[in-house]
Amino acid sequence: MATALSAPSIDSNVSKFVARKQKMLINGQWVEAASGKTFATYNPATGQVLANVAEGDLEDINRAVKAARASFETGPWSRISPADRGKLIWKLADLIEKHLEEFAQLESLDNGKPLKVARVADVPLTIEHFRYYAGWATKIEGNTIPLTLAKPLRFFAYTVREPVGVVGQIIPWNFPLLMAAWKLGPALAAGCTVVLKPAEQTPLSALRLGELIQEAGFPDGVVNIVPGFGETAGAALAAHSDVDKVAFTGSTEVGRLILQAAASNLKKVSLELGGKSPNVILQDADVDAAIEGAASAIFFNHGQCCCAGSRLYVERPIFDRVVEGMARHAEQIRVKPGFDPDSDMGPLVSEEQMNRVCGYLDSGLREGAKVVTGGARLGDQGYFVKPTVLVNTTDRMKVEREEIFGPVVAAIPFSDPEDVVLKANASVYGLAAGIWTSDIKKAHAIASKLRAGTVWINCYNVFDPALPFGGYKQSGWGREMGHEVLEQYTEVKSICTAL
Ligand code: ADP
Repeated sequence: MATALSAPSIDSNVSKFVARKQKMLINGQWVEAASGKTFATYNPATGQVLANVAEGDLEDINRAVKAARASFETGPWSRISPADRGKLIWKLADLIEKHLEEFAQLESLDNGKPLKVARVADVPLTIEHFRYYAGWATKIEGNTIPLTLAKPLRFFAYTVREPVGVVGQIIPWNFPLLMAAWKLGPALAAGCTVVLKPAEQTPLSALRLGELIQEAGFPDGVVNIVPGFGETAGAALAAHSDVDKVAFTGSTEVGRLILQAAASNLKKVSLELGGKSPNVILQDADVDAAIEGAASAIFFNHGQCCCAGSRLYVERPIFDRVVEGMARHAEQIRVKPGFDPDSDMGPLVSEEQMNRVCGYLDSGLREGAKVVTGGARLGDQGYFVKPTVLVNTTDRMKVEREEIFGPVVAAIPFSDPEDVVLKANASVYGLAAGIWTSDIKKAHAIASKLRAGTVWINCYNVFDPALPFGGYKQSGWGREMGHEVLEQYTEVKSICTAL
C-alpha cells in the first residue's frame, strides 16, 4: 500500500477512498458482504495490496436483485418521467466531470494505465457517454403499424418500447469506469434497474461511481453494485431467475458460461467478447501514418483492448519498412508505472495477465516466431511486459490465432489483396478490423468483405457513443453504443385495438 499512496501527486480524496474498507451498494446502502468476507485488489505497478473490498457472492447478489426488482416494479423509478431520467443521467455526468482527476487516479492505481491517458481518454469518454444516453431517455419511440391483412375489419396498431426490467451487468478490468458507463448509460436511459458487478481486479472506480449515483439523486435500488469474483458473484448474477437480462463484456470463454447460466430462465443476453483483429496495410497507404496507427492499434492500453489490431497484414513491398517502423515505435514507448508523468505504457493489470501474455510469447518462440523487439517481461517488480513485434508467425501458431490481450503484434506479409481478406476473416472472432490505403474504392471494397463489427479506414480505435460497437461470430451478440444498444435494454410491445 505504501508505495502507491506515497506518490507525491496523489489526490487526498483518492488516498482516503483507497484506504477505506470498500463496501457494496445495495438498495441505497453501503453494506458489508453477507459473509463478512473481503478481497484485496493490487497495484499492478508494484504488486502490493491497494485496497480491501467486500466480497459479494450468491447471498449479496440475491439481496441486490431483490432491491433492483422492487425499485423497478414499485419504487419511484417505476413512475419517473423520461425527462427526469435524462436529467439524472446528465447530473451524474456533471459529477464525474467535477471529480475527473480523482477517477483518473483511481483508474491508474487499480488498472495500471498511465494517469495521463486516464485523464484524456477513460474519464472524458465516460462523461460523454452518459451525456449521450441522457439525451436518449426522451427519444425511445415505437411505431404505428398499418396492418396488412385486417380489411374489412379496422384496427389501430402501434408498438411501444418498454424497459426490459432488472439487468445484471458484468464488466471487465481493461477500462473499468468506461465499461461501467457503456453498460449503465443505456440501461438507465431505457428505465431498467441494474445490478453491476465490476471486475475483481478493478472495482474501485465503479464503487466511487456508486457514491456519485447516490449524490445525483437516483432512487435507492436503481443501481446496485456488488464487487466480487466471477465464479461466485458473476455466476450467481448470470444464473439468477429474477434477472431479465444479462449484459457481459469479457472473454469469449466466460461469455459461453454466461450464456449457459442465462439458460436457466432464458434471460436476454448481450455479449461483447474477444477479438483477434486484422489490421491491413496496402502498399499505396500513407505508410508513416499507417505505422503510427498500427502501433497505436496494438499498443494502446497495453494491448488490453478487445479490438486490439493484433494481426498486422502488410503488403509485401512495404513489409520491411513497416516492421522496422513498428519496432521503432515499440522501442520508443516508455514503459513505467502509470503515475510516472513519463509513462506511455503501464503494467498489465495482474500477475495472472502478465503470465498469460508471457506464456503466449514463449509458445510463439517455441513454434518458430521471431521477436523483432520486446518478447519478454520488463523488470522484476510489477507486471510490465515489453511492447513486442513478432514476425515469421503462421496461422497455425497460437500467437496468430488466439487473443493475447497484451502488447504483442504479429506482422504478416501478403502479396494478394484478395487473399488478405480471406486471411483476415479466417478467425473465430469478428470484432474489428483496420484498412490503410489511399484508394477509396479498394478501402470500401475490402470493408464490405470483412466479417467484423467495426471497420476503421485510415484510422483505428475511434470510439464514439453514437457509433455501434460489437462483434460478428464469436466476438459477441448485440451491439454496445449508438441507438442500437437500446434495443438490448427494451422489449417491444405491440398493441392492437379494434376500431
Ligand atoms: P479475464 O479472463 O480477462 O479476467 P473475464 O472474461 O474472466 O476476463 O472477466 C470479465 C468479467 O467476467 C469479470 O467481471 C469477471 O469477474 C467475470 N466473470 C468471470 N468468470 C465468470 C463466470 N463464470 N460467470 C460470470 N462472470 C464471470
